[in-house]
Amino acid sequence: RYAYVNGRYVEHREASVHIEDRGYQLADGVYEVVGVRDGKLIDEKPHIDRLDRSLKELRIDWPVSRNTLGFIIRELMRKNRLRDGLVYMQVTRGVSRRDHGFPTTPVKPALVLTTKATKHIVADAGSGVAVKSMPDIRWERCDIKTVALLPNVLAKQAAREAGAYEAWLLDDKGCITEGASTNAWIVTQDGELVTRQTDNGILSGITRSSLKTICNSLQLKLVERPFSLEEAKKAKEAFITSATSFVTPVVKIDGEKVGDGKVGATARRLREEYVRFSEAGEAV
Ligand code: PMP
Repeated sequence: RYAYVNGRYVEHREASVHIEDRGYQLADGVYEVVGVRDGKLIDEKPHIDRLDRSLKELRIDWPVSRNTLGFIIRELMRKNRLRDGLVYMQVTRGVSRRDHGFPTTPVKPALVLTTKATKHIVADAGSGVAVKSMPDIRWERCDIKTVALLPNVLAKQAAREAGAYEAWLLDDKGCITEGASTNAWIVTQDGELVTRQTDNGILSGITRSSLKTICNSLQLKLVERPFSLEEAKKAKEAFITSATSFVTPVVKIDGEKVGDGKVGATARRLREEYVRFSEAGEAV
């Protein structure tokens, strides 16, 4: 299996970057994770658009052209015979002697890509997952998809140690911002779909955005607004979205059942619809 590192396809176990890379020392970089289903990339364009935005927000140059990145993604998928899984891509500001400020003489940003094979995601929602709430201790630019993920790492680990699949992060008003690596949704007792509005408080998820389009086409009522932990616990249904987890029903919050504790009809339906959408992706 191969990785791509700054212009080369190298054996994954031998792939390495410089110790003075600013990504390594300062988390000065951004990333994207794009899902692959049956050899097809899911939502490639919006992912690359978001990468472009993250880079611009941090004033990091594109390491290669957008077209070249598209080529590298496909070449790595081909070399690794990736059918189902994820493509990870990361751009860091580059190699420079450690100093917080940007390098004064421009350096070339570092580009790294890896792939990860996963099992073929099925439309069947299974029995759902549990989430655990905890304070959102991240910074005020959660809209940037940066590799600075320590609060997310700690949240995910705390969730796992509590037997939960995901952490739901709470702002100082007791509202859920998002998960450690997913967006959060509920279905209220009135049948209203709710997910938090996008601003600098959360990552604007690509899966969230595609599911919004799906909801519209199904004429489901979707409201983008803050919702509290209390409201989520009283909701009829809950679920999470991400490139990795697609649409995954949440059946327990802090050990308390959501609704009857079973996967709800809306989450079930939306997962099926999202799987169908992912299959209509672009052929490699
Ligand atoms: N929020 C956070 C904090 C994430 O890390 C992710 C995963 N990239 C998401 C939401 C979901 O985004 P997407 O649907 O683009 O994978």
